[in-house]
Amino acid sequence: MSELPDNYDPDQVEPKWRDEWQDMDVYEYQDDGDTDYVVDTPPPYPTGNLHIGNALGWCYMDFAARYHRLVGDDVLFPQGWDCHGLPTEVKVEENNDIHRTDVPRDEFRQMCIEHTEDQIDAMKETMGTLGFSQDWNHEFRTMDPEYWGTTQRSFVEMADDDLVYRDEHPVNWCPRCETAIADAEVETEEGVDGTLYYVTFEGADEDSEERSSSDSAAEPRNTEDIEIATTRPELLAACVSMAVHPDDERYADRIGDRFEVPLFGHEVELIADEESDPEFGTGAVMICTFGDKQDVEWWAEHDLDLRMVFTEDGHLNDDAGEYAGLTIDEAKEEIADDLDDEGYLEDTEPTEQAVGQCWRCDTPIEILSKEQWFVEVDQDAILERAQQVEWIPEHMYDRLEDWTTGMEWDWVISRQRVFATPIPAWFCQTEDCDHIHIAGPGELPVEPTDEGPGIEACPECGGDEWTGETDVMDTWMDSSITPLYVRGWPDEEFEPTTLREQGHDIIRTWAFYTLLRTGEIADDIPWEEALINGMVFGEDGNKMSKSRGNFVQPEEAVEEYSADAFRQAMALGGQPGSDIQFQWKEVKSASKFGTKIWNITKFASGHLDTAHLDRPDPAYRDADKWILSRTSQVADSVADHMDDYRFDAALRELREFVWHDLADDYLELIKGRLYEGRPGEANAARQALATALSASLRMLSPFAPFLTEEAYDGLPHTEGSVHAADWPDIDMHDEDAEIAGELIAEVAATVRGWKSDAGIALNAELDKIEVYPEETPERAVDTYDLSEAVNAPVHVREGVPAVELVPVEIDPDHSVIGPEFGEQTGRIVGALEAADPEDVKQQKQLDGEIELDLGEEVAVVPGDAVEIHEEHRAESGEEVEVVESDLSTILIYND
Ligand SMILES: [Zn+2]
Ligand SMILES: [Zn+2]
Repeated sequence: MSELPDNYDPDQVEPKWRDEWQDMDVYEYQDDGDTDYVVDTPPPYPTGNLHIGNALGWCYMDFAARYHRLVGDDVLFPQGWDCHGLPTEVKVEENNDIHRTDVPRDEFRQMCIEHTEDQIDAMKETMGTLGFSQDWNHEFRTMDPEYWGTTQRSFVEMADDDLVYRDEHPVNWCPRCETAIADAEVETEEGVDGTLYYVTFEGADEDSEERSSSDSAAEPRNTEDIEIATTRPELLAACVSMAVHPDDERYADRIGDRFEVPLFGHEVELIADEESDPEFGTGAVMICTFGDKQDVEWWAEHDLDLRMVFTEDGHLNDDAGEYAGLTIDEAKEEIADDLDDEGYLEDTEPTEQAVGQCWRCDTPIEILSKEQWFVEVDQDAILERAQQVEWIPEHMYDRLEDWTTGMEWDWVISRQRVFATPIPAWFCQTEDCDHIHIAGPGELPVEPTDEGPGIEACPECGGDEWTGETDVMDTWMDSSITPLYVRGWPDEEFEPTTLREQGHDIIRTWAFYTLLRTGEIADDIPWEEALINGMVFGEDGNKMSKSRGNFVQPEEAVEEYSADAFRQAMALGGQPGSDIQFQWKEVKSASKFGTKIWNITKFASGHLDTAHLDRPDPAYRDADKWILSRTSQVADSVADHMDDYRFDAALRELREFVWHDLADDYLELIKGRLYEGRPGEANAARQALATALSASLRMLSPFAPFLTEEAYDGLPHTEGSVHAADWPDIDMHDEDAEIAGELIAEVAATVRGWKSDAGIALNAELDKIEVYPEETPERAVDTYDLSEAVNAPVHVREGVPAVELVPVEIDPDHSVIGPEFGEQTGRIVGALEAADPEDVKQQKQLDGEIELDLGEEVAVVPGDAVEIHEEHRAESGEEVEVVESDLSTILIYND
């Protein structure tokens, strides 16, 4: 056995174990039919930076994975990468100073792949630094053909079940990204400053339109103007109707009248609709295709015309006449000016509005009607499955329910981009034939812009000319099949994974889509448990940001302290689900705790050697039985916390146990035996210490994988990696021993504290200690170790100690005596000092004053002129110190 170094150096130890673990198979999934614990790990978007919020989630998964390996589960902790998507395209365009259309599609895709690989490498480095224990044999990238082929397979299966369809429908559109986006990708910014424009619509002339025959021809037509209020005059060209509330008396006789759209001249009809808000503006609004989702509803319900005036890149099109080519913002300004010039603009006022924005680029979204691919959303089915999942914490389910019940549209899954999973479909090119061929499972993976379909002739027209679909899939189509992919679908039959860990900000996307897809494809729940993490705030309680100066990168904490310390701070931040505040002081205290563990290990390794361990029936003393019983109890309790994902409670309990019970109390109690005990006595202490320490290291290993590995490796009686060990199964609960052990530990600590306060050396010999426990133990207390620890004979007694307080000295107070007795003071003080302390005490207690016989006269001194010093005396008359502790009264004899 090589001697352990005095100091633990994480800068040296952590990289060493990172390397060694790579050559060991401790984190490998065996897939041998044992109890599985499968993590549906989030595939992060490869930004190149694993930030502290990511780190929190991965810490939770790693704690759980490591714990489940210890309890004997066959753990699969895979790691994927969600590669596709717009930010990478934009980055590659920037880095290479090109537009994606400047180079061939496959070349651009290749550039994106290379860029992504670099980002992944950087993030993997951080994961390694933080000690995460993924099984890298199970790594996947959504941009790999094997993965996106599986995404295509899921698409094909859903299309077979008519759950995917292609249709023209209004969709959210980001004019900057030039693609459709899903509801979940629209973020609403509240309180955006805007202007409310009051615009006059002139009543249309009677002759301008044939009146319908049902109208009574006798009534003269009312051609008065109506004023509407809108924040978006740039949509005037797209106006197809106007609406008022049916109960709004101001407009009761105008329903059905026609009006001319200012500047553009086309006519629209005023309709009544319950959804129109009489409180807004003038109570009359214009309906455009499309200003918002309300417009879409009115358009569909009242079967209105479609007039789309925006282009895909956010300009006005030819239908906007002279305004064609302007950006939306430019058009707003020019049209408002022209309305004013022409006398249509009655008034303007500032207003605040809610604006839907693209979540990737914050550009206000528009609604365009486009032919797109959609996935059917069955809200009830999703919620029914979600209810079968255990949400941790429970209230996170409510977020999913709120989002799901509020869904209005099916999920638009097509994107007009490049770097994503291709939609495996071809369009028949024969004129008037609108057949679409969707690839069969055998054709996948397929890039339809490169390859033709697997069939020759169109089944509808017999034609053989095809165009491959250029639209690609929403990246959530990739990431929403992670449980299926991890479980080997479609080759293997799907079984739900055990754990999904994710942030609460992607419940409406990742959790929602995964529930939808696993349900539709495998008719099952994706995971048994969903553990939701909160956010990590800065030390000042604010959201972390570089400009606020409260930003912390995980690597900084590792550099300053250690990965183990950082991980513990993440665990202790709070209960999973709650937002946590990053605290440097937690990292620091975790680092100190690491030193404590190292010191215990170092001490123990000097006393443990294999020759003395594992003897049958060690002669355990109460202290041994106590620490073993405590270890059993802590192992059970910490396992319960770990099963509940209460990492904070688990680590807190472990720290308390290791720091106080094991180090402060138990080690102090057994030192006597270890140094000087008879072989059998010492061996029992060694055995108990070996058991408790090894158990502690194993239980701490999920939180501090490096330090515990180094310590476990350094102990003579352990074999292999701590991460391949078993969760402690000691089963030595012994209630009597716990009562006795706590008592002696407390007495030892109290007496040592007393020695230190009294300035007495800790190893100084005392005459005798008597212990009067509050509650008399059932059986005799074993005082051997206590006696060694306090260096005195120890007797445990029953009942209440017979001690009395005896006055031993009178201390006259000159500041009271001086002013009252003047020049007599000296005599008074002398007489007080010479008096019988017992007599003075009695007088002071009974009369509140003391009569002093000065020979020729009697002086009366007030009671507060003296302080009486008392000492405890035992029945024997010996002087004794009485110390009260929580569990006992302790008499210390030390003459
Ligand atoms: Zn955008
Ligand atoms: Zn055809």
